[in-house]
Amino acid sequence: MHGALNHGLTPVQGGAALRLLLDYLVPGSTQALEGTPAQWAGQSLDLNFLCEGQQVLHTRGWVQPQGDGWLLQLIDISDLQHSRQQARLRGQYNQLLSSIGQQLRQCASARLPAVMLETLQQVAGYWRVPSVALALRADIPLGWRLHSAYHAFDTPQLWKPGQTLGAALDGLNPCAPIHVSPDSVSADNRWLTSLFGHADGVLVPFRDLHGASAWLLLGFYAVSPGESVTSDSEWLHLCATIAGPLQDRLREQHYEQQRERMEALQGLLGTGWWEWLQPSRQMQLAPQLSASLLPALESVSLSREAWLALFHPADRDEISSGFTALLEQGTPLLLCARVYQPQRTEPAQWYRIQGQVLGKGAERRIVGFMLDVSDIKNQQLQAAAAQARLANVIASSPAVIYVQRYVEGALVPEFFSDSLQPLLGLRLEDCAGSALIERIHPDDREHYLERTRQLLREGSARGRYRVRDQRGDYHWLLDEAKLLRDDLGLPVEAVGLWLDVTEATEVAERVRHSEERYRILVEDSPAMICRYLPDLTLTFGNRPLANYLECAPEQLPGINLTSWLSPQQHEAFLQRLASLSPELPVSTAEISLQLPGREHAWWVWSDRGVFDAQGQLLEVQAVARDNTEVRRSQQQLTHGAKMATLGEMATGLAHEINQPLNVMRMAIVNVLKRLSNGDVNIDYLQEKLTRIDAQIQRAARIVDHMRVFGRRSEIEQQLFNPAQSLEGTLALMGEGLRGKGVEIRSEGLNCSVHVRGHTDQLEQVLINLLVNARDALLSKCETDRGFKPWIALSSERAGNCVRLWVQDNGGGIDPRLLERIFEPFFTTKPVGVGTGLGLSVSYGIIDNMGGRLSVSNTEHGARFCVELPVVDEG
Ligand code: ADP
Repeated sequence: MHGALNHGLTPVQGGAALRLLLDYLVPGSTQALEGTPAQWAGQSLDLNFLCEGQQVLHTRGWVQPQGDGWLLQLIDISDLQHSRQQARLRGQYNQLLSSIGQQLRQCASARLPAVMLETLQQVAGYWRVPSVALALRADIPLGWRLHSAYHAFDTPQLWKPGQTLGAALDGLNPCAPIHVSPDSVSADNRWLTSLFGHADGVLVPFRDLHGASAWLLLGFYAVSPGESVTSDSEWLHLCATIAGPLQDRLREQHYEQQRERMEALQGLLGTGWWEWLQPSRQMQLAPQLSASLLPALESVSLSREAWLALFHPADRDEISSGFTALLEQGTPLLLCARVYQPQRTEPAQWYRIQGQVLGKGAERRIVGFMLDVSDIKNQQLQAAAAQARLANVIASSPAVIYVQRYVEGALVPEFFSDSLQPLLGLRLEDCAGSALIERIHPDDREHYLERTRQLLREGSARGRYRVRDQRGDYHWLLDEAKLLRDDLGLPVEAVGLWLDVTEATEVAERVRHSEERYRILVEDSPAMICRYLPDLTLTFGNRPLANYLECAPEQLPGINLTSWLSPQQHEAFLQRLASLSPELPVSTAEISLQLPGREHAWWVWSDRGVFDAQGQLLEVQAVARDNTEVRRSQQQLTHGAKMATLGEMATGLAHEINQPLNVMRMAIVNVLKRLSNGDVNIDYLQEKLTRIDAQIQRAARIVDHMRVFGRRSEIEQQLFNPAQSLEGTLALMGEGLRGKGVEIRSEGLNCSVHVRGHTDQLEQVLINLLVNARDALLSKCETDRGFKPWIALSSERAGNCVRLWVQDNGGGIDPRLLERIFEPFFTTKPVGVGTGLGLSVSYGIIDNMGGRLSVSNTEHGARFCVELPVVDEG
């Protein structure tokens, strides 16, 4: 072994004095030495020797015979080997970079964050860096932000994506990688070591047109510049390979989003840009604009004439001259124009067209935009039309709209609608300054001033006052005003409306006067006047009514009439109300009232119902007259007549009572006679006493009945069977008449119906009729000796009525007197005998019972008929 080698090489196996070549070789590079040297001759041998310090010596050589041995000649090829290694690494490195660049450029946008993370992972794996992150310049907030970060699984999380780093990175030199080490901390970059977690690290910049735009952060990574297998320029290249495409992609995304937003915005607004291309003299339109203006047009650029033709002929001149001014003088273009749509019936489509010159000289461009303002424009037109219509309506109506400006606490007329002239014959000047207040009626001025004060105080006011017109006539004006305030709440102006209500006010005034007259009429009327609801609650009563009831008129409303009526009266009252109808709204009746602490009152009561459109009774207006006095005298009359009848009956009654007395006397005489003879038999005595008892009962009945008959009648009518009255009459009169030789014929008297009234009064009527018949018969008897007088009583049911007949054979009534016999005080009897009241009172009684008393002559004599309505008992 050549001397130099002898020292440099170390044998693999130690111990033996004589060493084999193989002992020096790195295990694994011995294949070339299999066999004998003769077999290797002519071949090139690559042998790796182990040197001191575990270094490997790469050699290449050959054997050649020398003497009896072989000379192995080797050349050191370590350099060659090293550069080959380097080339291989570079190849891998380039491949890595190109795959990274390719992935970042080609991946889908949505995958970009994931691809970035993979990229950082690849970097971490390739260079054995525990933490890798990429920081990009952020727009908001200004400074830097980590786009993505990767950590080997057992490494502390130094960074996280989205983390902001502030603006400190701006202070670093972006020309070369920066090595961060906790050992060499300067005050300036203490933040840097804390960013790297107080461990070693490297910061690799990326620069573009605008300076540093990205930093690649390698954490927990210590390489001294000399030892690094990766040169600074390679680091820069790596960072550029990652950050360059990433930023392109991000910018591209950003522009894409912006473009989409712009397009959406333009679509929503119905707007779009246009540009006049000077060299080609063509107008270019934004795609959505041309789509909406020219659905059929394929190209988006058109000539100036074609562009003008898009608009309504009426607007073309204006557009054309504005456009020329823009082209030639650079005057900005701004106008509104309609799109030409000859077939269209809907409201016109309006565009606002704006244009301006950008840049100068060769870069001069003419651009602008068109904005769809149809909504606003059409609204404007509609509003203008509505305003015109309103102005027209106001001008031809009896209303004036006015504005009064607020000036230092006063309201000064500033505007009147055109209707002021036709209404009052005035113009604004006629109402300026203090002229308006002078035109207001002197009596209403205070009212007007108060209206102004209220308007300023409360923000609105309403009033009615008179204003003098041009001719000097006053108009009643209804004034409605509102105060408008500015943002600070200070009054600006009052807007109001005058409505001419002269006619209505005068009518109302007349109505008020006439109401007043009627009110006085009602109040001062001697009749009692009231209004009440269908449930009989009083809503109004005049003074006479209140006086009668001994209270004030104000106390009347709320009182219910029911409290003054007996149940029968109440029922009859309601029945009467129910019979009212819109066709027959009036009814009159005599009602009896039970006023507390007073005797019965009789009122003649007239009702008039007030109905609504559906025929429903709303209220009743009633007029009442006190009839109590009349009633009372009537009653007295009836009673007087009754007493007279009783007087007349006295003879008959005497006879009537005399009869049983005679019978009793005879019986007693007979009994006494027998007693004196001692011939008294108990049976005989019993028979006589029974007869006496019967006669006593008969007399008692007559007396009883007379007592009942002589009483005053009840106030309320009762239901009774008229047969009762017939029986009572016969009980009183029968015997007396028979005693005078008058035959009583009574038949069919057992009718079982009910009538309403008083039994005693009907009885009185029947007695009157019997007495009159008796008188007629007796006077006939005086002249005609053989005359056989009779009185016939009968009854019959006829429909809803019952008829009682009293007939005699006394010759009847002189037909000339027939009409007069019911008159009061009419009599044909001698003075002191007849009163002439019997028939007239009877007539009144039957009338009161709702019936009728009538008379006719038969061949024998007079025939009286009492007809009474039958009351259904159901
Ligand atoms: P007065 O009996 O007191 O005369 P009335 O009113 O009862 O009063 O009768 C009036 C008149 O009618 C009688 O005076 C009589 O002339 C006539 N009159 C009444 N009833 C009869 C009768 N049944 N027959 C004939 N005349 C009669």
